Amino acid sequence: MAHRFAGPADLHLHSNHSDGTQPPAEVMRQAHLHGVRTAALTDHDRTTGWAEAAQAAAANGMTFLPGMELSAKHEWRSVHVLGYLFDPGDAALQAETERIRGDRIGRAERIVRNIGRDYDLVWDDVVAQTTAGATVGRPHIADALVARGIVRDRTEAFAGILHPREGYYEPHYAPDPLTAVRLITDAGGVAVIAHPVTSGRDRMMPLAYIEQLIAAGLGGFEIDHRENTEQGKRLLRDIARAHDLIVTGSSDYHGEGKPNVPGENTTSEEMVARLIDRASGSSPQFA
Ligand code: AMP
Ligand code: FE
Ligand code: FE
Ligand code: ZN
Repeated sequence: MAHRFAGPADLHLHSNHSDGTQPPAEVMRQAHLHGVRTAALTDHDRTTGWAEAAQAAAANGMTFLPGMELSAKHEWRSVHVLGYLFDPGDAALQAETERIRGDRIGRAERIVRNIGRDYDLVWDDVVAQTTAGATVGRPHIADALVARGIVRDRTEAFAGILHPREGYYEPHYAPDPLTAVRLITDAGGVAVIAHPVTSGRDRMMPLAYIEQLIAAGLGGFEIDHRENTEQGKRLLRDIARAHDLIVTGSSDYHGEGKPNVPGENTTSEEMVARLIDRASGSSPQFA
């Protein structure tokens, strides 16, 4: 018998509940149009899109996995930890995501103030680009810069004004990855490090620290992601094999905000099954 989650799985998609440009239902529709049959909604630091996404997934005959991309930080590195099938009502996890989201607002205001010294940009421009209640990030500032005619698109904004080297950047509060992995795992979820080996400023965490994450219950790595380096993917596959970890592939779709297309990378049925078997915090919704 075919699995109830047969077909291409894309386990990393963003809606306008964070920095994607489309509502959760449209994200699921786009995933379906691109041939995805199992999808996870993984907005940054929030779970409010789950209900709409689950409903749209069902309407499109897709299996749905609830997820989130939790912001973390190791020294100067921004680390993103994907959480799947955790309990969205878990008090510790909720408290932490509230703290992150709250600090993201003040931090975005500081970045806008910095930019405003040199460009015609004010906080209201960013508010106008952000869905009420969404997790605020630099992509919303990028959209405000586009609306002001200062840059052409998000890509140009990130390559220039929003890049830390330009001097406008400010950090936001985030827990360390060990805390992030524990929070997700303790909430019954499975923690997977998102795009662990991008080039540039988010260079990979030291191997000894990754070993600590594994000891703390890390479920796996997102290996097939357009921003991981080829050399890094080989290294991660070796680590995953040695520790019998889950490996995933996904698009990191952000609607019109990025060139990433749903289904451009996918996760095998075997790995989806392992994710589901390992989790206890919430249930997948099968097609
Ligand atoms: P922040 O968490 O506010 O620092 O912003 C980081 C977010 O910006 C990530 O989640 C990415 O989705 C997005 N991002 C990073 N680089 C780019 C880019 N070149 N184009 C569009 N979005 C980007
Ligand atoms: Fe994002
Ligand atoms: Fe990410
Ligand atoms: Zn993402």
